[in-house]
Amino acid sequence: MNQPRPTPADIEKAIRNIPDFPKPGIQFKDITPVLADARLFSGSIDLLTEQFKPGDVDAVVGIDARGFIFAAAAAVKLQAGLVPVRKKGKLPYRTHEQEYNLEYGTATVAVHVDALEPGSRVLLIDDLLATGGTAAAAAALVRRLEARILQISFLIELKFLAGRQKLKDYPVRSLVVY
Ligand code: AMP
Repeated sequence: MNQPRPTPADIEKAIRNIPDFPKPGIQFKDITPVLADARLFSGSIDLLTEQFKPGDVDAVVGIDARGFIFAAAAAVKLQAGLVPVRKKGKLPYRTHEQEYNLEYGTATVAVHVDALEPGSRVLLIDDLLATGGTAAAAAALVRRLEARILQISFLIELKFLAGRQKLKDYPVRSLVVY
């Protein structure tokens, strides 16, 4: 206890690069060492939520699947609800869906039609911003529910992929930038 709060540089040191996973040419950013370290995990949640206090946010929306880990902890810290944006076909009730482009082909994310109250204040979280397609699709679903995005937060941003350009309508924050 009473250890100093980790900095983004401390978190960066723990992120493991896995070359050619899940396919050749991709440098996968493995966050599991951050999760496994109690100080780094809770510090990353502190940093992801530092602009807000309990009462500022109605719901934290997390993106399937690693986004859920950070979004769930952030929701508890901010005393907000947790709303999952999932890959198509996973949510049991009626959904809105949003398709987006991948390098090859398309993917679809979904949210329950009653997941957010109109006008509710949302913090959207994912582990990593790459080309921005996933987060932009999740943001479109939040807006479809007429909720308001206060911020989109990522643990990691791959700046060279320019994902922020797809998120120009929102304040975007990332802790570790490559
Ligand atoms: P994108 O839609 O291109 O911004 O991709 C973002 C999503 O893909 C996030 O949910 C990430 O978890 C995952 N992702 C993309 N690239 C990587 C990478 N290099 N390492 C780890 N996860 C990645």
